[in-house]
Amino acid sequence: MKNEILSGVARELESPLYAEEVSRFNRVAERMGLDENVAERLRVPQRAMVVTFPYRHDDYSEVDSLFGYRVQHVLTMGPTKGGIRFAPDVNLGEIAALAMLMTWKCAIVGLPFGGAKGGVRVDPLKLSRAEKQRVTRRYTTEIINFIGPNKDIPAPDMGTDEQVMAWIMDTYSQHVGHTEPAVVTGKPPALGGSVARREATGRGLVSLLPLAADQRGVKVDGARVVIQGFGNVGKYAALAASESGCKVIGISDHTGGINNGVGIDIVEAIEYVEKNGVLEGFGGGDVITNEELFRLDCDVLIPAAIGGVITPEVAEEVTAKILLEGANGPTTSDADPILNDRGVFVVPDILANAGGVTVSYFEWVQDLQNYFWTETEVVGRLREILNRSFSEVLSVSIREKTDMRTAALMKGIKRVAEAKLARGVFP
Ligand code: NAD
Repeated sequence: MKNEILSGVARELESPLYAEEVSRFNRVAERMGLDENVAERLRVPQRAMVVTFPYRHDDYSEVDSLFGYRVQHVLTMGPTKGGIRFAPDVNLGEIAALAMLMTWKCAIVGLPFGGAKGGVRVDPLKLSRAEKQRVTRRYTTEIINFIGPNKDIPAPDMGTDEQVMAWIMDTYSQHVGHTEPAVVTGKPPALGGSVARREATGRGLVSLLPLAADQRGVKVDGARVVIQGFGNVGKYAALAASESGCKVIGISDHTGGINNGVGIDIVEAIEYVEKNGVLEGFGGGDVITNEELFRLDCDVLIPAAIGGVITPEVAEEVTAKILLEGANGPTTSDADPILNDRGVFVVPDILANAGGVTVSYFEWVQDLQNYFWTETEVVGRLREILNRSFSEVLSVSIREKTDMRTAALMKGIKRVAEAKLARGVFP
């Protein structure tokens, strides 16, 4: 770090994920010969808001105080964009790291946004629907001046969904006095949500599989796929993979995993989880742990739950030839070289899961224009953007003789740095 004051700010953001992402950024910035003045600005978020707020339990027995965050990493590119996460271990550093990843992701696929992220430190599984609604509306009220269609546009992430986005949109609309669909994306279609947004991250991810498979001579038809996480990203990735002819032999959620060498019936698994909330008790295969899941013999591994799960120990034992990162930050930076040495083709989070923010961008555009696209238009444009972005990152990786994560970061950082230099320093 260049100066002491900013080192101090960075300490405010201390968390394992932030340390990972800054160290990756530093490595790539050095390799690119990035202007240190720009690099210093990009290591820390431009704006970070921390709030605490109360919510009362349904039975009036208690009022809990919760921490909430919203971080805007870079305001140079346009409004900021990024999900809101409800999870028991959310902290400022993690949210700052995720906001930084959003900046690179938007730049890689060419969207006119800087990165943002938000979160509430709460276990969503312990909240009733009414409690979740009160938490959402009060959190929205606390950050209301920070967000807006031209400022910062939230979306769903872990522990939040279309319903949470609907409550945010309604709270914001009540505040400004008119309906404002463009303040969030990932809304229900009835409120101005885009068709195909719900499944965009998982399906977008799997749409890159044939391109990745070409790089390792893997046949998509019959490829054995293992997926951690069976929420929004994981279940649609599983569905898309099985529809593409893959055999999904392992799936899991926070309650554990299922292994079935013949292939799991994904439609049945989705129906089961929609009814029961968790995979536990689904009889479609042998019960395994999340640790065992990563060690299953397979061709394609898709982490689609939490961060930091592909550690050096796991990387040593992964048998997959392709790692498609559905989750944000699933691989630790000390696991990257092991995966590379072992010839695993990694499609990094900032490219692989960009389908979600891309269709979120489409949703925002549709809301601003009050003109809605067909599913064919949305899916076709998504595919075009993801395929082009994959090819561009692959070209950088071949030209620079480096892995896909480094290449993706080089592409994303370059675009943001160019914009920063063109705008200059104010005043
Ligand atoms: P979700 O809340 O819908 O689902 C999360 C899933 O992960 C659930 O099945 C949950 O049981 C499982 N899980 C949680 N903790 C686990 C653990 N310790 N071990 C195993 N499984 C666990 O969340 P989501 O929207 O699917 O997001 C999943 C990941 O994808 C996150 O890292 C998120 O940041 C990333 N992501 C999401 C989107 C999106 O559009 N939703 C876009 C890009 C990236």
